Amino acid sequence: MSRDPRPLVAGNWKMNGLKAGLEEIVAMRRAVEGRQAGDAEIIVCPPATLIISAAAVLQGGPIALGAQDCHPKAGGAYTGDISAAMLKDAGASYVIVGHSERRAGYGESDALVRSKAEAANEAGLAAIICVGETKAEREAGEAVSVVSGQIRGSLPPAATPANLVVAYEPVWAIGTGLTPTASDVADMHASIRALLGEIYGEAGVRVRILYGGSVKPSNARELLGLPNVDGALVGGASLKANDFMGIAGIYA
Ligand code: PEP
Repeated sequence: MSRDPRPLVAGNWKMNGLKAGLEEIVAMRRAVEGRQAGDAEIIVCPPATLIISAAAVLQGGPIALGAQDCHPKAGGAYTGDISAAMLKDAGASYVIVGHSERRAGYGESDALVRSKAEAANEAGLAAIICVGETKAEREAGEAVSVVSGQIRGSLPPAATPANLVVAYEPVWAIGTGLTPTASDVADMHASIRALLGEIYGEAGVRVRILYGGSVKPSNARELLGLPNVDGALVGGASLKANDFMGIAGIYA
């Protein structure tokens, strides 16, 4: 039976991947066409330099493309930046905004993340908005209030389940091999779901909430089987088709 909302497994390649890496994307396409991910929606977010060539190898197939960031403006004198319209033109249909590596490394505020998400939606891209607490915030018992604040500040009020995905990614779990307990993940996702209901009313039930942070084939079944976990945002384990499909394969 197909699940509602449709699960989403997204791979974030970060600053990894040369042209040779397209072979992995070809292998992912074959696996998804062979139903290894069941009904789940699969997207890959390679670096911007690979989007056009990845779009060519994915054309007409079941995997969609995402980007890892966009500028809040549609165009202009912003050297080195890429607009949402350019990403759409290159073949993307999603863009990640507010990843903790950008919030921490570039001082991106909730307001900036929201303006990027709005720019994405305006250009016809769905925004995957990342939120998550640091280790210190969790230890201080502030995880839920920090994440709620990020959600209130970063989500465009006009977004819909079709163009908004929330990714809960505890900062301390990203790339560390550490994950929260299943009950901590379930509690956080329940609180995010309640907040989405406050913001979007009934539509809040259909906004997908992904878990991200050291998801791998060995822990995917437990994490993605939790209530209100509608898929995963995967970093390191998305670079190789076998690992990525080992995660998406829980929906087969
Ligand atoms: C990420 O970068 O979004 C992420 C979840 O990374 P990893 O899976 O490597 O922890």
